[in-house]
Amino acid sequence: MNVDSIRDGIVIDHIAAGCGMKLYRLLGLESLEAPVAMITNVVSRKLGRKDIIKIDAAIDVDLDIIGYVDPGATVNIIRNGELKEKKRIEMPERLINVIHCKNPRCITSCEQELDHIFCLTDRETKEYRCAYCETKASIL
Ligand SMILES: [Zn+2]
Repeated sequence: MNVDSIRDGIVIDHIAAGCGMKLYRLLGLESLEAPVAMITNVVSRKLGRKDIIKIDAAIDVDLDIIGYVDPGATVNIIRNGELKEKKRIEMPERLINVIHCKNPRCITSCEQELDHIFCLTDRETKEYRCAYCETKASIL
C-alpha cells in the first residue's frame, strides 16, 4: 500500500503521539478487510510528534470515538484521490458502547444487554463517568 496515494478513504491526522493504537483498537480497524496504515511518531511542527492512521476504503468512522480519544485529531475524507471533506472533531457529550465500566458492582457488569453509556463530566480534564454508577472512565 502506497500510503500517500489513497484514492477513496480516510486519513486521521494529528493524533497525539501514542494515541494512534488506542484509536485503532476502539474503531475496530483490525477487523476491517481493507489496507490500514498506522504511522506513529511522525515529526509534526504543531505537536512535536503525532500518529496518523490511513484507511484505504470508503468507510464511515465513528467521529465520537475519535473525539473521545483525541479531540485535536483531524479527519480527511479522500475521494477520487482528492480531499473531499475535512471533518471537525469534538468531544462527544455521551459515549455509547465505546468503553466499558470497570466497576464490578455496576449494573452494566451484570445486565449484559444494557448499553454502556459514559457522560462527559469535565471538558477540561476530558473526564467521562459511567451514566449508571458514576465511575470514572480509566485514563487513556
Ligand atoms: Zn458503571
